[in-house]
Parts: sequence; structure tokens; C-alpha cells
Amino acid sequence: MQVAIVTVGDEILAGDTVNTNASWLAERLHDRGVSVGRITTVPDVVADIARVINEYRAEYDAVVVTGGLGPTHDDVTMEGVAAAVGRDVKPHEEARRWLTEEGGYAAEKLVEGTTDLPARARMLPNEAGVAPGAVVEGIYVLPGVPDEMKAMFEQVAEEFSGERTHSTVVDVDEPESELIDRLRELRRRFDVTVGSYPGESVRIKLTATEERVAEEAAAWLRGQVELVENEE
Ligand code: ATP
Ligand code: MG
Repeated sequence: MQVAIVTVGDEILAGDTVNTNASWLAERLHDRGVSVGRITTVPDVVADIARVINEYRAEYDAVVVTGGLGPTHDDVTMEGVAAAVGRDVKPHEEARRWLTEEGGYAAEKLVEGTTDLPARARMLPNEAGVAPGAVVEGIYVLPGVPDEMKAMFEQVAEEFSGERTHSTVVDVDEPESELIDRLRELRRRFDVTVGSYPGESVRIKLTATEERVAEEAAAWLRGQVELVENEE
């Protein structure tokens, strides 16, 4: 399964909010064997949200969207999602029922627009907040507040699955540029994908569908390079 993540919010683009939702979702999806093909941040603008979601829903099995829910004027994500699938935004009966019967909100206290979702969407209750989420045509719309987003993702996590992979890390004490030939040989010998992440040392991440293959590849590589001390 291939998924795209879209985070919505001017505050992310301004650098005021660190996009922890995207990395949390990417990690959870990866753990479930799902490959994340895109992480994109868009402003709180209906046309931008709709355009990116439309492009990704054509290309990916699902799109996970976070941020910009709720009835305040700058929260336009539901409108963007509705525009992407050519539906209206309408008060959602099940969302109203959930908030008044299970959420403990008096109907007359609900701010107008709180239960607005794309027409005929599946409602996702917000167990840690107010604004409901939605699923429509493979688009999963979750809140921006991290605790609300996490609780809501767990409700649908089972709908995301794929082949799990196994990774092993080797920390190498050599310049990345000197490793090219050995990494090429590694890929020739083993059915692994190789990620190379330079920092103080070079962190080589080997990923395979079988744990045994990742371990064998790592053992071979460890014999070919200078390891950082705590690796030895
Ligand atoms: P609510 O349901 O409370 O209306 P919301 O879905 O409208 O939430 P936003 O208004 O977009 O969410 O953001 C609420 C807060 O969540 C922001 O103040 C921001 O700090 C945080 N937040 C939003 N997006 C992200 C993100 N991608 N990563 C981390 N935090 C985020
Ligand atoms: Mg909001």
C-alpha cells in the first residue's frame, strides 16, 4: 500500500509549528508496512488543499490529511477535501449525534459548522477533542492537534497495511564518498535497499523484506568498513 500525507496549515509553512504530525504518521504507517510516497504541506487555502489531494488520490492508495478542522474561519480543510471529490460540505447527522450523545456537548452549544463534513463521508469521532474527522474516497481527514490526530489515526490504523520490512543500521567511520564502491557491491550481493545518512559518522540503513537478509547484508558490510567504536 502506498500512501501520501498532506499536512495543512499556514503555521507550519511559517515555521511556527514543527510538523511532528507528518513524522509520527510516517513512522506509524511504515511500522505497518505501508510505504509513504509523499509528505506535503499546504496553506489554509481551499484551492491548494483540493489541488494537492486530487493529484495524490489519483496516484496513491490513500491520502492522510491533518490540520485545519473545526468551525473557525481559517479551518478550511473539509471544504478543500469536498472540492477535491466534487461534493458539498454539509452538517453530518452522525457527527451531531455522536457529539451530543457520546461527546457530552449540548446541541445548542455546538458552534455552527462543527459537524460539517463532505457529503456522505464516514465520520470519525474526535475522542480527544471536538472537531470530527472524516473518510471519503480513500482520503482520511484528521485533526491538527497532535493528541487528537493520534487518537483518531488509531481508530483507522487497521485500514493501512502492507508488507513489513526489516532494517539494520551500521555506523561507519569513513567519509560517505569513499563508500560508493562497497555499497554498490553490497546491493549486488544482497536484496536490500540501502540508505546512507551522513552525520558525525555515516549511518547506513539496510532494509529487506526478510530479517535474515538484512542481517546477512549488515554482517558482510561490517567486515568491509571502519566501524565507529561502539559498533565494534
Ligand atoms: P481543532 O480540532 O482543535 O480545530 P485543527 O484540526 O483545526 O484542530 P489546526 O487548527 O490546524 O488543527 O491546529 C491546531 C494546533 O495543532 C496548532 O496550534 C498546531 O500547533 C498543532 N498542529 C497543527 N498541525 C500540526 C502538525 N502537522 N504537526 C504538529 N502540530 C500541528
Ligand atoms: Mg483549528
